[in-house]
Amino acid sequence: MSVPQNPGRDCPLCPRLAAFRQKHRALNPGWHNAPVPSFGADDARLLIVGLAPGLQGANKTGRPFTGDWAGDLLYETLIAYGFAKGTYDERPDDGLELIGTRITNAVRCVPPENKPTTEEIRTCRPFLSATIAAMPRLSAIVTLGKIGHDSAVRALGEKPARLPFRHGGVAVSSGITVFSSYHCSRYNTNTGVLTPEMFRAVFAAVRAHLDRG
Ligand code: URA
Repeated sequence: MSVPQNPGRDCPLCPRLAAFRQKHRALNPGWHNAPVPSFGADDARLLIVGLAPGLQGANKTGRPFTGDWAGDLLYETLIAYGFAKGTYDERPDDGLELIGTRITNAVRCVPPENKPTTEEIRTCRPFLSATIAAMPRLSAIVTLGKIGHDSAVRALGEKPARLPFRHGGVAVSSGITVFSSYHCSRYNTNTGVLTPEMFRAVFAAVRAHLDRG
């Protein structure tokens, strides 16, 4: 049976994540509290692969990076480089539109302490592979952080040893150019591991790549 692009609302494949989800459904019944589907159309040329929904961000709002600290820099940068238009207002109904861009996560359910296990990353990968396979015009992938990077590389059928994670790294796999960036997490931006300028440089390179054809 072929794997769908998005897990069902009650996906049981990762028992620890399903239990965490259940707990938060009871505590916060108004939140999304389910696997977070990709944002953006299948015919996008760019796919951004993050890590996993944040508890009070994407897990609450149901849209990747929406309400998460990491979303502020991500969406601001996407708008600056023409990958999104409108206003990002931390809500799925803020009217923000992606332009030729899609955003997904290596792990679709919120993990406790933001840390998915190796097994959970592996178990969720078929949804990432199905997402990539359903994008006929895909030309570039931006991977945010090593976990998202390694999972995307494996979803492309490659070994991370051939395409190792490196901030600012650019590599080609099956005709798709993979740009890697440090994750735009609160920790990385607060500690200066990732500055807005470093992040913008990655998206400037993606813009130039896509504009070349
Ligand atoms: N929110 C997401 O959806 N993904 C991340 O990687 C971080 C926050």
